[in-house]
Amino acid sequence: MKLRLIYPKWPKLTGQTEFHLPPHGPVVFAATLPPDVEVEFVDENVEIIDFEAKVDLVGISMMLTSQVKRGWAIADEYRRRGVRVIFGGIATMLHAEETQAHADAVFIGEAEGRMEQVLADLRKGALKPVYDYLDDPSPVELVGPARRSILKRELYNYKGVRMVDLFHASRGCRFNCYPCAVNYLGGRCFRPRPFDKVVEELAGIDNNRLFVVDNSLAQSKQWELDLFREMIPLKKKWCSHPIEDDDEVLDLAAQAGAWYVYQAVFDTSDFIRRRIERYHSHGIAVEGTILLGLDEHTEDGIKRLVDFLLEVKLDLAEFTILTPFPHTRSRDDLANDGRILTSDWDQYTADKVVYKPRHMSPDRLLELYHWAWETFYKDEPQTYKMYKLLQKVVSKEMADGTFVPRRGDLTDRRFGRPTNED
Ligand code: SF4
Repeated sequence: MKLRLIYPKWPKLTGQTEFHLPPHGPVVFAATLPPDVEVEFVDENVEIIDFEAKVDLVGISMMLTSQVKRGWAIADEYRRRGVRVIFGGIATMLHAEETQAHADAVFIGEAEGRMEQVLADLRKGALKPVYDYLDDPSPVELVGPARRSILKRELYNYKGVRMVDLFHASRGCRFNCYPCAVNYLGGRCFRPRPFDKVVEELAGIDNNRLFVVDNSLAQSKQWELDLFREMIPLKKKWCSHPIEDDDEVLDLAAQAGAWYVYQAVFDTSDFIRRRIERYHSHGIAVEGTILLGLDEHTEDGIKRLVDFLLEVKLDLAEFTILTPFPHTRSRDDLANDGRILTSDWDQYTADKVVYKPRHMSPDRLLELYHWAWETFYKDEPQTYKMYKLLQKVVSKEMADGTFVPRRGDLTDRRFGRPTNED
């Protein structure tokens, strides 16, 4: 059977440098398919879909709300041509009901151990409209190495630098942050993968640079310590979501190859200042993820926040606007207050204002969003800050002998070095 697995395109944030990482959901899903299924992967962010090519089944994998309308349009086109379409992925789970109108089947939940049955139903002509395993996650021991062989690696480069590969060591999250849907998607339960599976997969990835995409590593101190000890001999270099604020953990993380973290910066408190200082003091860089438009955000508050980011020397910053995605507490609250302006999912890109902010007009919040990007990157362009971050990983690799020279790694000219430093 030939399955064409499609990842619909979505627009990058306005202000963000455009590069594309190899996606994670589709390669994890592909690993759940029996070996006799021939998978052809098409990432519409980096290539064009050939609707004429012959396939037996189309799978559409959606991660973001801003992909869903495009995913539906792709499905409509295939179904018009008589090809059956099955949807899966995080955004399918968030938009399951609406997606049914465009699908032969909608798969909700984790696919490990389930796809044989779905494919058997398909062969019998008895595909169910919905496979709902949302409340019944697969045993985490079943998660095998992602099937990265389906990726066209040459499409994931930026200025000659090979992009990181994505990897996960756990599922779920014990937290319940305000704008986040992870609780709905995975239950409030942290589920680590067995370490032998983690090490087996890591050792098999033909890339020294990784993005460990676990929701947050700061789930359990003992687990982090054990994980990092297992990772040290592999000499990988990696970025991740937050790591526990603890000297022993940060020290081991650095030894295990921690390169930089994505850290939410929500205020100008000493707590956040210390958090960033402590990452830096362990040689770990920080990319701040800054959500604008929370109910406590005033115009002055947003301006102070951007000054603060420059003062604490964040290595990179990514600004987004609060977006009330389905199945989040923020959507419930804004809907109850009658403050949601649109549910056109194409507008849910996190760089548009789709609700009424508390302290300013939607237009003013949008202006401040653009102002934040421009102000943070005024003296050093984003591409040059990215280059400096790249130099950090190159130094770490040179120190432990894992550096593999590639076009782009050692030349700063194409990264927009500021002319006043020439
Ligand atoms: S820690 Fe991250 S994944 Fe977990 S609830 Fe908060 S935002 Fe979501």
